[in-house]
Amino acid sequence: MAQFIDVILPLPVEGKYTYRLPSALSTAVAVGCRVIVPFGAKKIYTAIVLRLHDEQPEGYEVKDILDVLDARPILLSTQLRLWQWIADYYICTLGEVYKAALPSGLKLESESKICCNIDFEADAPLPQREQQVLDAIGVDREQTISQITKATGFRNVPALVKSLLDKGALTIKEELVRSFKPKTETHLRLTDAYSTEVQLHALLDTLVRAPKQVEALTAYFDLADATAAVTLGNKALLKEVSKKQLTDATGGALSAIDALIKKNVLQAYPYETGRLLNKLDQRLTVNPLNEAQQQAMDSITEVFRKKNVCLLHGVTSSGKTEVYIHLIQQAIDKGQQVLYLLPEIALTTQITERLERVFGNRMGVYHSKFPDAERVEIWRKQLSDQPYDLILGVRSSIFLPFRKLGLVIVDEEHETSYKQQAPAPRYHARNAAIVLANMFHAKTLLGTATPSIETYFNATTGKYGLVEMKQRYKNVALPDIQIVNIKELRHKKLMRGFLSPDLLSEIRQALEHKEQVILFQNRRGFAPMIECHTCGWVPKCKNCDVSLTYHRSSHQLTCHYCGFTYSVPERCPACDDTNLESRGFGTEKVEDEIQRLFPDARVARMDLDTTRSRLSYERIIHDFQERRTDILIGTQMISKGLDFGRVHVVGILDADAMLHIPDFRSYERTFQMLSQVAGRAGRRDNQGKVILQTRDPEQPVIRQVVENNYAQLYQEQIEERALFHYPPYYRLIYIYIKHLRILFS
Ligand code: ADP
Ligand code: ZN
Ligand code: ZN
Repeated sequence: MAQFIDVILPLPVEGKYTYRLPSALSTAVAVGCRVIVPFGAKKIYTAIVLRLHDEQPEGYEVKDILDVLDARPILLSTQLRLWQWIADYYICTLGEVYKAALPSGLKLESESKICCNIDFEADAPLPQREQQVLDAIGVDREQTISQITKATGFRNVPALVKSLLDKGALTIKEELVRSFKPKTETHLRLTDAYSTEVQLHALLDTLVRAPKQVEALTAYFDLADATAAVTLGNKALLKEVSKKQLTDATGGALSAIDALIKKNVLQAYPYETGRLLNKLDQRLTVNPLNEAQQQAMDSITEVFRKKNVCLLHGVTSSGKTEVYIHLIQQAIDKGQQVLYLLPEIALTTQITERLERVFGNRMGVYHSKFPDAERVEIWRKQLSDQPYDLILGVRSSIFLPFRKLGLVIVDEEHETSYKQQAPAPRYHARNAAIVLANMFHAKTLLGTATPSIETYFNATTGKYGLVEMKQRYKNVALPDIQIVNIKELRHKKLMRGFLSPDLLSEIRQALEHKEQVILFQNRRGFAPMIECHTCGWVPKCKNCDVSLTYHRSSHQLTCHYCGFTYSVPERCPACDDTNLESRGFGTEKVEDEIQRLFPDARVARMDLDTTRSRLSYERIIHDFQERRTDILIGTQMISKGLDFGRVHVVGILDADAMLHIPDFRSYERTFQMLSQVAGRAGRRDNQGKVILQTRDPEQPVIRQVVENNYAQLYQEQIEERALFHYPPYYRLIYIYIKHLRILFS
């Protein structure tokens, strides 16, 4: 029987930590289980067991673990291998991976709640200090270790708590239990006072002046099938009726229903509804593939015979998603699990519904904006005997437990948001997903219309396979992109603010024809920058050295990197002039201007400011889809794989903005962004129109976007990468050095 365990702590600490396993707990522990351990003088943490052994550590006193939380591992061996790979490759500790990987409901920290066990009866009087700890916690209350320490002033609270835990006097209140309240809704049922025919007849007589209540009661009888229950005198025959159902059935007669509850005719009670259970289980058939799609599918299957990874390079709207659906279906039929990764902001109800229609409740959705309890639930379900066959999820879903992963799809593989920048682990989910797939001997399909240079390099040098789809579904033509030179127009004084005459007339026509318009400006806020017109000074963030954005509503400057805000200076700190003016424009200003020029149009704006919650984001998309909005103005958010049928015009207001970002990938990014935005135009039946406003029409990348010439962009970029020693030929590591200056007085 092992005496010691090595654990991972959720901390950025190097090295392993060893604890002693008290014999009472030793049978219960396996690798991958969570245990509660003391750390330092006051803290406790949930640690994960890495190894069981009998090697007495030397040089320090080994502490006992306090408790075991799991009877079965919550971390499977392949997950641990992935953690180890990430820690190694992205140069961080296992503890940091642990912190990122687990939903917080599974990570009890030192702030975990501890409470008294009310059923505890002591055999003998407790030691005085332990009794004091119990008193400090009190009945019906939860306290954290730090709160207890504060209340008692004792320094060895963890040890006292441990001893009390051993005696069964205390329990650790698992966060999970608390945040894991089952979902309930209010149901209604006849009370005993009115469950016979005689009682009900008498009741009806008293209700002659309340026809609404009679109506509600009748509606309840229908929904609950109550006639049989009443005539047979068996209340068990009553069907479950929710208050919502009854409200709907009565056309919203809420006060009548409440009156019946008050009169004790109906009784309201909470009814538990499983969050995961109430998805529809109906499976619709999969769309048949067209010829080009079938060919792509066959080629992918062929590639997978020889290679583990395949790039599907298909123009926007070629039906990549349909191909994925067929591949997923195939994998599931073989008894395999599938992971479908999407960048955070591309994971919308649009795609969820599309997949749910095919895979119903065999699919789970893992989103960082979902409540933590739901993520815990998915984690648990993946460990159970009946895991989801398909997980549709964001970056962090690579950390979920899988047992028989067969296929990974990384949609929009070029998306930069797959890379976590800070904090550690600074992993790239696309690359980590490929590693994960390899651990299962599973296949990975990377899909996009605009591949990242690195992926295309791998796909053309033999590491990955390459499959292309060059036609849009139904051969709808790629949008017609018209270049507008705004520098020249500005010179000739022909620009209306930031709108060219051509764009204006296209918008006007679209509105006349009841078609929709998307305007793209990749900056939020009112006017993005403030500039000194005398000397050219631009305010920058003192933490991040990036230009600050001006927000009109708060009249403040904000750093979009770190979120720091500054007030607007009165005078230029460089030349002391007062000639500070706004420069450029953000989505907010575009919205203002458009609303002024087209007062009858229904205008919506989609950017980080208007989409703080998942719901508001979905509402904007939904309204546009239902054509309750005519003009949608947005940042890059609107370019992410959304599929709208009636967008005729897309206006790109300032195509050059991204080119000047100091990053070796800015050309690639500009191409990707502009192509994706343009791809929103005319997706279903007819060719769309894109007006691309630029100051520099001769810029190669602008031409490449217009001609949809990815090959040329790639060629130019890859040569530059070699020349300037950039990836994929070289690796870049960002080394950040911080220095803490200690001041002596
Ligand atoms: P992509 O993912 O390449 O941008 P989508 O899969 O979203 O393209 O397809 C674009 C549109 O064409 C969608 O509305 C989709 O429903 C439709 N479509 C594509 N292929 C088919 C098919 N085989 N059967 C029916 N509809 C299809
Ligand atoms: Zn100045
Ligand atoms: Zn900053």
